[in-house]
Amino acid sequence: MEPFDLMVIGGGPAGLSAAVTGRRRNKRVLLVGKEAVSNKLRQAHQVDNYLGLPGISGADLAAKYRNHAVAEGVQLEEDEIQNLWLEEGLFQVMGKTRLYTAKTVVIATGAPQKVSLPGEEALVGKGVSYCATCDGMFFRGKKVFVLSELVEGEKEANFLADLCAEVFYLPRYPGEYKGLDPRIKLVSGRVLRLLGEEQLTGVETTAGRYEVEGFFIERASLPLDRLLPELELENGFIRVDRQQRTNLPGVFAAGDCTGKPWQIAKAVGEGLVAALSAVDFLAT
Ligand SMILES: Cc1cc2nc3c(=O)[nH]c(=O)nc-3n(C[C@H](O)[C@H](O)[C@H](O)COP(=O)(O)OP(=O)(O)OC[C@H]3O[C@@H](n4cnc5c(N)ncnc54)[C@H](O)[C@@H]3O)c2cc1C
Repeated sequence: MEPFDLMVIGGGPAGLSAAVTGRRRNKRVLLVGKEAVSNKLRQAHQVDNYLGLPGISGADLAAKYRNHAVAEGVQLEEDEIQNLWLEEGLFQVMGKTRLYTAKTVVIATGAPQKVSLPGEEALVGKGVSYCATCDGMFFRGKKVFVLSELVEGEKEANFLADLCAEVFYLPRYPGEYKGLDPRIKLVSGRVLRLLGEEQLTGVETTAGRYEVEGFFIERASLPLDRLLPELELENGFIRVDRQQRTNLPGVFAAGDCTGKPWQIAKAVGEGLVAALSAVDFLAT
């Protein structure tokens, strides 16, 4: 398949703005977002400081952004990008189930996830996973625990319920969890630490201990160093110049992932600049 001119990772205000700008410049644009609506935007009940639209809800704003992107001809895919690399001048971008190819990339993944749980880092790949679709089969017939900050985690847990002996699910978002498979055991409280040294052996929560061999984490964003290890960060955010260029040629970044202020107007503006810089890059 023809590579995309511009691939945008993240479907919040920054990503959608970049994608619309790319289309306005007549480029082939793919936007891959983990959620249909950005979790951040979904949580903003009432936005009073966005110019021209006082009082709008984050959900309504998100719907307007998305409709605009669709009307401009942006191709939208729901997927979570795991990592990306450069190969013969093109970016190979790995989703959970598909590989995408693009000439330029705009990273618009929202505020970087910095906090990890005690034991998490040491046990990545030794029982800790960020992707049930990718790693679920390793846990066939075993007991697993899913910690999810997003409603999307319910789909991942349901997938695991078909494979695993027992699935515990701890949601860290409000809801009724009606989408959960009845075989899944809903858990409350907070995770205190992950147990085990060479391999995960269990999870300690404020409600008790669970002996499991797999621990899946569904967060709004992956740690940036897992997405693209060569990307230069500054205080945990992607370092960009005023053209939203990162240290890697062809890779741009916009929105909360580049630092404060964490605001919609800033995200939309940076998305626009990032896409224009990508268009300039394509012309060189
Ligand atoms: C409760 C609340 C109220 C707020 N109120 C206001 C307000 O009144 N005014 C204001 O200006 N701002 C407000 N904000 C802040 C505003 O929502 C954010 O600044 C804005 O959403 C940032 O846009 P973004 O596109 O950079 O990131 P986000 O909106 O966070 O979008 C990033 C998207 O990228 C996706 N993503 C992450 N990693 C990947 C990956 N690997 N693959 C694919 N997709 C990925 C995420 O799931 C997410 O959907 C509020 C935020 C909250 C939480």
